[in-house]
Amino acid sequence: MSLPIHIEKYRLNLGVPEEAAQYAEIERRAKALGHKLFDSSSMRKDISTYLKNLPTVFYVETDYLFKNQYNTEEGHRIFDWSEEIYPNRDIKEGYFITSGVDELREAKNNQLACGYCGARYDASKTDAEFCHKCLDSEYLTEDSLYMLRLRNVFNENRPKGIPSFLKAAYEEGRKVFNIKQAKKKKEKAAQLLIDLEERQKLERYETQVKHDLLMVDINPDNLIYHKHSDTWSYGWRKKVTIEEFNTYRQKIADNCEHIARDEVGIAIYNKMERGRGI
Ligand SMILES: [Zn+2]
Repeated sequence: MSLPIHIEKYRLNLGVPEEAAQYAEIERRAKALGHKLFDSSSMRKDISTYLKNLPTVFYVETDYLFKNQYNTEEGHRIFDWSEEIYPNRDIKEGYFITSGVDELREAKNNQLACGYCGARYDASKTDAEFCHKCLDSEYLTEDSLYMLRLRNVFNENRPKGIPSFLKAAYEEGRKVFNIKQAKKKKEKAAQLLIDLEERQKLERYETQVKHDLLMVDINPDNLIYHKHSDTWSYGWRKKVTIEEFNTYRQKIADNCEHIARDEVGIAIYNKMERGRGI
C-alpha cells in the first residue's frame, strides 16, 4: 500500500527580517499540522543540493510505518518535519509534510504490531487479536506469549496477562510446531540414507574401475576419482607429461570399459555416466 504526500521546502535566513517572518509562519503551520521538528546535522556534504533537488510529491509505503518518518516508493526517507542544522544557525533549510498528514495519522493509528516477531497488521483489515505468524515459532515460550497480542505501534502498551484464547492458540501452535518438527526429523533421516547410498554407489564405482585396471596390469595409483564432480584425473600424485598422459589414457581406453567414452577416447576428465551396469 502507498499513500501520496506533498512536502513544502524552505531555505530562509533569519538575519533577514522578511525571511524570519516567513520562518515564523512555517513554524506555526507545521505545529498546527501536529508535526514535531526533527532537526539534525546530516553530515552530508551535498545536503543543500539534495534538499534543493528533492521532489515535493512522494508515495509513502504504509506497510511498515515509523513514528515521524516514512519510507517512500521513490526510495527516500521523509520526515514529518525535517531541518538541517548548519553552523550558521540563522540559516533554516528543511521541509515539512503539507498534505497526506491526516491519512498518514490514520494509517499509523491502524498500524498494529506483534511484539514478538515485529509483524505489522492493518487494523482496518484485520480483526486479529494476536499475531498468527509466530505462533508455531521454535523459540516461543509461554512467558513471552503476551507479546503476540497486537497493539498499536505508536501509542499502546502491551498488557502482560495472557487471555485464554491466546493460550489455546499457543497450544494449537505447539501442536503444529511438533508436527513440523517430526516431519523435518523424518525428512532429515531419509536424506541421510539417500546420501549414504549415493556415497556408496560412487565408492563402488571407483573401486570397480581400479579393480579392472589392476586386473590388466595398469597401476591406478596416480589416477584419482573426484566424487563431487564425477571426474577422473591422472597425475595427482606424480606429474606426468602430455605424452605420458595420452599413453596412459589410451591404455585405459583399450582395457577398461567402466570409464565413460568421449569423442577423443576415454573421458578421464568428463563426467562419468551414472549407473553404467556397475
Ligand atoms: Zn508475531
